[in-house]
Amino acid sequence: MITDTLLADLHSHTTASDGQLTPSQLIARAIEKGVEMFAITDHDTVDGLPEAHMANQAHETPLTLINGCEISTRWNSFDIHIVGLNIDITHAGLLDFLAHQRQLREVRAQEIGERLAKAGIEGAYAGAKAIAGDAALSRGHYARWLADNGHASDMPSVFKKYLARGKTGYVPNNWGDMATAIEQIHQAGGLAVLAHPSGYKLSAKWLKRLVREYAEAGGDAMEVILGQQTLDDRNNLIALSKLNNLLASVGSDFHFPSNWIELGKNLYQPQGVEWVWQSQHWTERT
Ligand code: AMP
Ligand code: MN
Ligand code: MN
Ligand code: MN
Repeated sequence: MITDTLLADLHSHTTASDGQLTPSQLIARAIEKGVEMFAITDHDTVDGLPEAHMANQAHETPLTLINGCEISTRWNSFDIHIVGLNIDITHAGLLDFLAHQRQLREVRAQEIGERLAKAGIEGAYAGAKAIAGDAALSRGHYARWLADNGHASDMPSVFKKYLARGKTGYVPNNWGDMATAIEQIHQAGGLAVLAHPSGYKLSAKWLKRLVREYAEAGGDAMEVILGQQTLDDRNNLIALSKLNNLLASVGSDFHFPSNWIELGKNLYQPQGVEWVWQSQHWTERT
């Protein structure tokens, strides 16, 4: 039985997208960190999950592994991410949809490369592609290449300088809307979770509007507990989830080992919150 005290981390990335650990390495690390319920949610792909399940089952103390993905959407020209949890990773409609998302990624990646070249940075596309390997290109891969090649000191400054909204290498996004992504998640049997709502740098008024419109678009839940956040932020997100009748979720959004973000770290489960895994819908599908 799943209880409130189960250590849950329902947002993470592998080398199938812009994470730096393989699915097997990520599973080993999650178990080592004491995570009990764990979701892998790569950007626009579920390709890391078969290996993750194999690695998990081969472990002496397997965790509860939830199939997930993180879908990029567009809302008022912002990139908004929606996590799908407990999805059927063999669902043909979902797989088609994700393949289309990755095609959009490829087109965008080439355009990012062209913009950077115009700004005097040659070879970024090929460099990012080499880092990504088989994974669909993300700005995360570009950021690593730019940092590795001396264009900025670390990932946050690369984004500030080149990749964030409005900067030289930013390509206005071309994703589908929130309702479409939510519908795809539902068709594949999953629950939709609005990812890192306070990460979009929206004003309080716009954040409120985002959460309301996300709920109206059919969203089930939103992340309220993030690996790195202030107490004010946590309280604000919990209040917004309640105001909009959304379930709550927790996730580190782990991409690679660092001093700041760790699997399962700081993922408190305060009392009086209805968690996404407590919904009847969830139990039916796990
Ligand atoms: P994309 O999905 O290709 O638009 O890339 C978004 C990804 O870039 C996120 O999932 C993060 O991994 C990374 N990212 C976005 N903003 C930042 C930032 N300010 N600092 C470091 N990484 C970031
Ligand atoms: Mn990422
Ligand atoms: Mn995200
Ligand atoms: Mn993420």
